Amino acid sequence: MTISQPSAFRPRILVIGSGLMGLWPAAILAQKGCAVTVLEANPCATGASWAAAGMLAPASEAGETQDDPGSLGRFGAHSLSLWQGWAERFAGGGHEVCWRPFGALLSAFDEQGLQRLERTHRAAMALDLHPKTISIETARQQEPALSSSAIGALCIADEASVDPRLVLQALQALLQSHQGQILYDHRVVDIDLQTDGVHLRCDHDQHFEADRVILAAGFQAGEINGIDAMTARLHPVKGQMLELSVPDNPIRAVMRDAHAYLVPRGDGRMIIGATSEPGLEDARPHEADIAALHARAAKVVPALEQASITDRWAGVRPQSVDGLPIIGPLEATGRLFANAGHHRNGVLQAPASAHMLCSLILGEDAGPFAAPFSPARFASC
Ligand SMILES: Cc1cc2nc3c(=O)[nH]c(=O)nc-3n(C[C@H](O)[C@H](O)[C@H](O)COP(=O)(O)OP(=O)(O)OC[C@H]3O[C@@H](n4cnc5c(N)ncnc54)[C@H](O)[C@@H]3O)c2cc1C
Repeated sequence: MTISQPSAFRPRILVIGSGLMGLWPAAILAQKGCAVTVLEANPCATGASWAAAGMLAPASEAGETQDDPGSLGRFGAHSLSLWQGWAERFAGGGHEVCWRPFGALLSAFDEQGLQRLERTHRAAMALDLHPKTISIETARQQEPALSSSAIGALCIADEASVDPRLVLQALQALLQSHQGQILYDHRVVDIDLQTDGVHLRCDHDQHFEADRVILAAGFQAGEINGIDAMTARLHPVKGQMLELSVPDNPIRAVMRDAHAYLVPRGDGRMIIGATSEPGLEDARPHEADIAALHARAAKVVPALEQASITDRWAGVRPQSVDGLPIIGPLEATGRLFANAGHHRNGVLQAPASAHMLCSLILGEDAGPFAAPFSPARFASC
């Protein structure tokens, strides 16, 4: 839906949630001259964006389940194409985000794993991400730490990774450099659409008013009074992760098999993920699950068996009922917008989602990807 506005329309904006889906459009809109305030329930960002591994992996993710990447995969590939420019921009502002455009190496250890590689190859071909099925010898030349018991390998040259915690810091700085503000410990409990604007009430009875509101509250986006449109549209999917100390940085690319992924930060740390536990919203790691992930990572790179665990955590992914993100106006007057439901791919899709959402808010052309992700798709349900 395109909402017509005068071209220089610069609304007052309130954003609910300081994860990537809140901060990214907040920073863009502040830069365009809007007065932006972000309201965050917690004392600091600790949501899914903080917990994420930071893989930018449209084909590897699509290949988990299908060989046609669909609208989600194409949107992810488009977003990946925006990432380098943003990483350079953050770096130019003094905020390196651990941008690592060193590709992904997927390996298989059984027949099921080989089928997954084939699906991923097809998805990566469809997305033009330069996949190459390679022999184990070639794979071990690229990544000598790869286990010799792997029976198949696929390299996707164009996938990448970032450190999402550094991205959150970079976005905060960008927002604040354009006079935007973040108010922590402000949990929004009510949204009320009035003729003079949108009114928000927080849990300590603070009141706020704006022309436009962005709902970017992660898996809890449906829990605020007054937005029935989101209730029952989002479900939590818990994910547990760990960090290993790897002083010799044994791998360069992101590596993954069917059960675990290994994301090197290049500074002596490696992130291992992740469980996928639908319906759970407690962000606590459990030692047995962490140990199982560690063991699985050591199957891919045996040297990791000796690596010590330096941290473990969990986050809750926001999954929509149809698996697609929900981006756009939530009601007919176009004052309340959603940027939510990005499930496993929110870091990847964050820049493209933010650009699309900001165009919709400012009444500009939202581009070719908007329709499948519009909240309007639920109107007939
Ligand atoms: C373990 C794990 C690994 C992942 N790995 C990857 C990856 O490698 N690549 C990738 O692309 N994606 C990954 N993801 C997915 C990605 O992290 C998410 O899709 C994305 O971060 C969602 O961002 P968000 O801003 O919607 O949610 P969040 O980051 O959860 O932010 C929502 C914020 O809203 C706040 N909030 C909630 N309710 C209210 C309220 N009422 N008032 C005010 N504030 C409120 C919360 O406190 C929170 O800070 C991973 C996720 C997890 C959990």
